[in-house]
Amino acid sequence: MSVNRIDLVRSSFEKKALQSEALDKKVSEIFGELVFDRAKMRQYLDPKTFSRLLDCIDNGKPLDRKTADEVAGGMKEWALEHKVTHVTHWFQPLTDGTAEKHETLIDYNGKGGVIERFDGSSLVQQEPDASSFPSGGIRATFEARGYTAWDPTSPVFIQEDTLCIPTIFVSYTGEALDYKTPLKRALKAVCEAALPICKLFDPNVTKVYSYLGWEQEYFLVDEALYASRTDLMITGRTLMGHMSSKNQQLDDHYFGAIPSRVAAFMRDLEIAAFRLGIPVKTRHNEAAPNQFELAPIYGEANLANDQNQILMNLMETIARKHSFVVLLHEKPFEGINGSGKHNNWSLGTDTGVGLLGPGKDARGNLQFMIFLVNSLVAVQKHNALLKASIVSAGNEHRLGGNEAPPAIVSAFMGRTMTEVLRKLLELPSGTPVEIAGKKGKGVGLVEIPEILLDNTDRNRTSPFAFTGNRFEFRAVGSSANCAGALTVLNAAVADQLREYKKALDAELSAGKEFDVAVMDSLKPLIASVIDVVCFDGNGYTEEWVREATRRGLDTRTCVPELIASYASEQSVEMFSRTGVFSARELQARNEVKWDTYSNKIKIESLVMARMAINHIIPAALEYKSRLLKGMKYNLDVFGNLEGCTSERILVEEISALVEDIRLKVDAMQTARNEARSATDSYRRAMVYSSIAASLRELRKPLDRLEELVDNRIWPLPKYRELLFIS
Ligand code: ADP
Ligand code: MG
Repeated sequence: MSVNRIDLVRSSFEKKALQSEALDKKVSEIFGELVFDRAKMRQYLDPKTFSRLLDCIDNGKPLDRKTADEVAGGMKEWALEHKVTHVTHWFQPLTDGTAEKHETLIDYNGKGGVIERFDGSSLVQQEPDASSFPSGGIRATFEARGYTAWDPTSPVFIQEDTLCIPTIFVSYTGEALDYKTPLKRALKAVCEAALPICKLFDPNVTKVYSYLGWEQEYFLVDEALYASRTDLMITGRTLMGHMSSKNQQLDDHYFGAIPSRVAAFMRDLEIAAFRLGIPVKTRHNEAAPNQFELAPIYGEANLANDQNQILMNLMETIARKHSFVVLLHEKPFEGINGSGKHNNWSLGTDTGVGLLGPGKDARGNLQFMIFLVNSLVAVQKHNALLKASIVSAGNEHRLGGNEAPPAIVSAFMGRTMTEVLRKLLELPSGTPVEIAGKKGKGVGLVEIPEILLDNTDRNRTSPFAFTGNRFEFRAVGSSANCAGALTVLNAAVADQLREYKKALDAELSAGKEFDVAVMDSLKPLIASVIDVVCFDGNGYTEEWVREATRRGLDTRTCVPELIASYASEQSVEMFSRTGVFSARELQARNEVKWDTYSNKIKIESLVMARMAINHIIPAALEYKSRLLKGMKYNLDVFGNLEGCTSERILVEEISALVEDIRLKVDAMQTARNEARSATDSYRRAMVYSSIAASLRELRKPLDRLEELVDNRIWPLPKYRELLFIS
């Protein structure tokens, strides 16, 4: 028996907020209790093992077998106290999300019984029979040998009954098959490139970290309504649906009161996050109805990204407990804001100096200028590549869609910093410059105000905005693995810093004073970016697209084409200089990306066609026949069709729409056949890119029918129901 939509809606409305978990301890007491962090290492390992492990974590020293066994022993003891029964290597393959293969800890004890066993070799390496993870031809499927290897810089954690070991995932021949491996390479590259520069300012610096603070946006929908929307269930977004008469025009949702059922979900999510050491800090409603955001305190990029991956999993399971489904898709609903994941990015030294914020004094400001300007140069040079790092079938809907970031990667600097940069350019070369800041006010010719943080105006239309002590890369999609964007960003900046260091060295060896040498090597860079990649205007306008084209910025939006920029000569060289990707890896990963894109659109196209034929057309025809019956009665009773004008117009429009749908579904089928005969992944993805456009066309008659057909027989929950029930 099929459930009536109206009944579904009624029952969803009646759902009360579940009580969230009662917490009888302070957050600081539960924070990180499910993570094998440094405090636990100290507690469960002997001092020698502890210090060897720290040497491995902090200085990249290899871990010998004996130490690995001892570390595993300590972890096992801790895990058993938490009633753990299974262990898994936890990794981030090129599909969405994370992968795990659980094994129990038991082994025969040789005396007819079993014991819990977990040793160094199972900690350090595992072969997860990974033939089904995408590898873009690097690892032939029959070979099926991918290895996962422990990433000791990311702590082991417990989820439910399982000890999770964060690992990298590489092929038999050492090629990266995941997101984590290249991110770690890029973080190493940026550290190595930044370090010699930082040492010129402070010889005590021994390490440069890249930081990430992500802001995760998401939607919640009621579980029962979700289950009756095939499109949401299978593709993560609504493929049809007319905008509700009230959407976000009123902007009454943003920072409004959080509905109680949602608040209970958020609280449970936060408690779970705290236990896993994820420092979630803010929660609030977002611009669209039923859209929310959550952000942690920023941290070292590799760890922060792992935490984002863990959190996305937590969101899905905890939402279910509250009879919600969380939507991480970038564009679940047409006509209202989609979801993104701002990546707040900065660099900092192990001496605690933030390199993308004003310094304590003139010297600190000079260092800040180096990192700021070189970041801008990197964003300009690798403009298409940075965009490629955030594109996907889901995020394609946001690009150029007059919401969130535009499809042109420009950098917003704000009035204050733009003025500082312009002033620096005007100074005659060879003059020592003092960029006054917090101390030594007034002596410098150029001044950075102390309160830069509050000074940065908020330009929400910029995809890459300077916000006082960091850049906010806002174009990243809500479902994305942040590592995709951060690998490219850190690698590009690393490469640029290396080049800059050479230029600086040349100035210094020409005998220039330090400050003069820095400025003389920076000025040509400032001049090259200030009127090109730097743009403070409205990124949503048509003029900007024209202006950006004139400036030589990348304005393309076609996803498969953009993906190809990973394999451009310039990208291949940059990645090989920084040691982040080999040419072979780039080619293989592009194939995976193209195939993923094609598969997503293919599934959307199949689901949409079936829904059109099985759900929408039958409802439309049922309504049409009801109208026709009415007209026939009219004829029987009155002997004419006078007074049936509305019915006639409706019937005609419905017939035309049904016919339009049928033709469009057929055309899509033909296009899919064409895609099937495409000779390679790129060509296939290009065909699917045009199918993506035809999905938008097919949607129009479907949405028009939703407006015409009797509400009581419309088979799918509507936007107003999906978006306003919580
Ligand atoms: P908004 O919503 O105004 O953009 P939030 O404070 O909600 O700002 O989020 C900003 C994110 O940026 C947080 O995760 C925060 O920890 C992070 N962040 C702050 N300073 C830095 C920094 N120097 N480097 C990286 N991330 C940072
Ligand atoms: Mg932000």
